[in-house]
Amino acid sequence: MQRCNRCKMDILGYKKACPLCGGSLVGEGEDPAYPTIKRKIMTRALLVRISAFVTIVFIVIMLLLNSVTDGKITWIPLAVISSLVCFADICLTVYFRSNPIKTITWQMVVGMILSVLVDYYTGWHRWAVIWVLPFVFVLMLITTLSVGFGLRMNLRDFVLYLMLDTLLSLVQIPLIKTGVNTFPYPAMWGEAAVVLFFVGIVLLRWRDFKSASDRYFNM
Ligand SMILES: [Zn+2]
Repeated sequence: MQRCNRCKMDILGYKKACPLCGGSLVGEGEDPAYPTIKRKIMTRALLVRISAFVTIVFIVIMLLLNSVTDGKITWIPLAVISSLVCFADICLTVYFRSNPIKTITWQMVVGMILSVLVDYYTGWHRWAVIWVLPFVFVLMLITTLSVGFGLRMNLRDFVLYLMLDTLLSLVQIPLIKTGVNTFPYPAMWGEAAVVLFFVGIVLLRWRDFKSASDRYFNM
């Protein structure tokens, strides 16, 4: 216990100075009864403002470069779009910071959309559809699981993200059917892996899946 000799008072918990007179205390303080909230060094708004500034600087440099080279660098528009998408991504990350799995899901979705756009505007070689999408959907499933279990979360708290990954990955089927994906084997294997894995989870961990659905959809 700490004590202020000037006020002749014992002080509970831990104080840097006497709450009454502001004088110094003697003795050892105890752990506080209530946890103290650590002050956030970087607030969300500050983080967003810094990234907005960096994005603007980047775009200005790109525009200057564009005018200096007389528009001969073809990737400048793409770089500008990418930087805007990155900024949107940072905003999402900052906003969903409390939920890492949500952040990861969003980032991967943004990444996939970006890769398809980049592919489309750089000659449409289909590498995004053929390789990136199948790979990222499988990766999304693996990361969701590892982060979920790594953070010792209960399966029912993130099983719906696994479902979202699986549902989103189904977009690959029309891409194969309509011939947009000209080399469908990676997508077929990836899709099969994602769907089988999810079916496995639903069958083996039905309880977790049901309680998550009950809570979310109020079934
Ligand atoms: Zn005092």
